[in-house]
Amino acid sequence: MTSPTAPLISFDQLQKNFGPLEVLRGVTGEIYPKDVISIIGPSGCGKSTFLRCLNRLEPISGGQLEVTGVDLSGAKIDQKHLRQLRVRVGMVFQHFNLFPHLTVLQNLLLAPRKVLQIPMAEAKDRALTYLDKVGLGTKADNYPDQLSGGQKQRVAIARGLCMKPEILLFDEPTSALDPELVGEVLNVMKQLAEEGMTMAVVTHEMQFAREVSNRVFFFNQGIIEEEGDPDEVFRNPKSDRLRAFLSRIQ
Ligand code: ADP
Ligand code: MG
Repeated sequence: MTSPTAPLISFDQLQKNFGPLEVLRGVTGEIYPKDVISIIGPSGCGKSTFLRCLNRLEPISGGQLEVTGVDLSGAKIDQKHLRQLRVRVGMVFQHFNLFPHLTVLQNLLLAPRKVLQIPMAEAKDRALTYLDKVGLGTKADNYPDQLSGGQKQRVAIARGLCMKPEILLFDEPTSALDPELVGEVLNVMKQLAEEGMTMAVVTHEMQFAREVSNRVFFFNQGIIEEEGDPDEVFRNPKSDRLRAFLSRIQ
């Protein structure tokens, strides 16, 4: 889908190697404001590595990458730009990554206080607002191990929102959950999408990809092999590999 606005993220012939292993082999595309991108593809094809490049958990090995106005193409980035980037680009992980020794509220206060240095009252206000939004307003004083997996992941999403990012990246946010807990997390993500949050989601939930995202990237062997509107991609896959992948997963 083309858009008159400038892309939030653009990447051109993006490459990432781990030593001799070429994981990303020339990934090209854009992510626009309000896009909800589903990233699908077989295990080991570079989906997580791609997300990690977008917020500089990994430096790239070649090509061009610009994320929310920050140029990540070079080998080095100064601390100021790195901090800006990490505020603008939030990430939600498969295994939640909450601090177990902190309460839910303390987990949510940490980055806004330390990184954004906003006053305590405002940080609390923000944290409670987003906890309410993910349906966990009553859990502020609980510790993570007192929550279900679905609740923990919703806390992790609220924590991401507390930084008011320009885009949220999700790496298989429901893959570690018992099946009956998947829906509550997807519902929160769907609500965010409806409110215009820009998101890129690595997922095996094809239903979510179809219903919620406006574009799908099919990664295969380190490239985007096919991309497009979900209806089109799922109904009418062009490449044999995507057809084979869909028949395995659905
Ligand atoms: P996906 O998320 O699509 O399953 P990944 O991006 O996690 O794939 O991994 C792609 C390939 O890169 C795999 O072969 C994986 O073993 C390798 N890889 C990922 N991270 C590292 C790393 N830090 N060091 C070496 N190899 C890695
Ligand atoms: Mg992965």
